[in-house]
Amino acid sequence: MSAPAQTLRLMAVHAHPDDESSKGAATMCRYLAEGVDVLVVTCTGGERGSILNPKMDLPGVLENLTQIRRDEMTRAREILGVRQEWLGFVDSGLPEGDPLPPLPEGCFGLADPEVAAEPLVRLMREFRPHVVLTYDENGGYPHPDHIMCHKISAVAFDASGDPDRYPETGDPWQPLKLYYHQGWSRERFVILHAAMEAAGLPSPYAEWLAKWDEADTPDTGARVTTRVICDEWFGRRDEALKAHATQVDPDGFWFQVPLLIQQAAWPTEDYELARSLVDTTIPEDDLFAGIRAPVDLPAS
Ligand SMILES: [Zn+2]
Repeated sequence: MSAPAQTLRLMAVHAHPDDESSKGAATMCRYLAEGVDVLVVTCTGGERGSILNPKMDLPGVLENLTQIRRDEMTRAREILGVRQEWLGFVDSGLPEGDPLPPLPEGCFGLADPEVAAEPLVRLMREFRPHVVLTYDENGGYPHPDHIMCHKISAVAFDASGDPDRYPETGDPWQPLKLYYHQGWSRERFVILHAAMEAAGLPSPYAEWLAKWDEADTPDTGARVTTRVICDEWFGRRDEALKAHATQVDPDGFWFQVPLLIQQAAWPTEDYELARSLVDTTIPEDDLFAGIRAPVDLPAS
């Protein structure tokens, strides 16, 4: 007998407000629809972000970016239907230049992962997730906050079940699986590109694929272990992403491929199983593979 899904809990740890909508959002919606409890954890407030949507480059926006991004996150959270908690760290900003400037004092990217993991361990022990989602060791892209998000997620995953670690943060709870988002496979973009051409539409990926630089953008397709079908929720994902109006241009690159083409060409969001304390078979199509039965069956 399969377990009642409402006993299952999924935690997605993200660096900034908007990351939860651009990475794994449709997956979260699918599991919410199944009755899974979903908590988004946002490490920083996105305070040092830029205005990436020209329509929002208006007087007063940059000066009030912290509050505006909090409000955007509230709207996105409502659209997705997830619960969400802030860890309260300060955005590092994306350093640019050659040589790169030092990170600003006190920012998340300079934190000691062992120290910065503490509030995340506390949340893991409160929420008791079976599955945790985060970024890989490269951060998905080399933003210092994304890399630190990976580090504290890994520390917390390994420590949360150990009563000797972070003893002041609640009763131990060991999550069972840790996944990394791996949506940037070259194969995915090749297939989306071909689908656009087949439909007689201009592909936004033509130039991008031609200039794909393995050094800057490693093809992580080979690391994918788990593809979650979630195309039914691509529309809601896009609405949540657009709620982060300072961060995404609704007429920009990310919205050039019609939903129907995306749904037909690549209906999954893709993950790498990084740690598992349960038996499972690769490839998987479910983040809770190997967990549902043990969690749901009454003890015999
Ligand atoms: Zn981010």
